[in-house]
Amino acid sequence: MILPQPLQKLINAFERLPGIGPKTASRLAFYLLRSGDEAAQELSDALDGLREKIAFCEQCFNITEAGRSRCQICEDPNRDGNLLCVVADTLNVLAFERTEGFKGKYHVLQGLLSPIEGIGPDDLKIAQLLSRIKAEDIREVIIATNPSMEGDTTALYLRQRLQPMGVKVTRLGLGLPVGGDLDYADQNTILRALSGRQEMS
Ligand SMILES: [Zn+2]
Repeated sequence: MILPQPLQKLINAFERLPGIGPKTASRLAFYLLRSGDEAAQELSDALDGLREKIAFCEQCFNITEAGRSRCQICEDPNRDGNLLCVVADTLNVLAFERTEGFKGKYHVLQGLLSPIEGIGPDDLKIAQLLSRIKAEDIREVIIATNPSMEGDTTALYLRQRLQPMGVKVTRLGLGLPVGGDLDYADQNTILRALSGRQEMS
């Protein structure tokens, strides 16, 4: 059956999203078609100018609202600025925030080192991390990259760069499955990994 063009266009757009197959894409599109103008309008409003409305925090490179130079976490005076958790992306920040067990601050690398994909240190926010350690009073850096090949490569590289700076460098402890992903770990696993973090030597 050939669908009307506007509907097919919406289905195609949904299908390009991660984790959405053709069936789900069709279901979502038909749901919006049936559910009246309000649901469709809400979705349309949320998408409208999304990219322009989001900016990166100038301090930690987490996402924030456009027009703000720093994110809410960096601006929060109740967070411990001596303790810095280094993560690959904002989704990892969300995973830690969900546990409500971490009161330090973050640094978002915006990716992981991957020699295979040609992603080197200059492609990530590593220079910015080193400047922060020089400029801010940071006591400990927790490297919270996933226990994957890219995560390990990044952690080892960071250790090499950070240790000569005299800052304590730790890595998340056991509990996270090898090859696993922080975003899918439950809150207890993340809290356990956080409390079991070990100094990298
Ligand atoms: Zn920030």
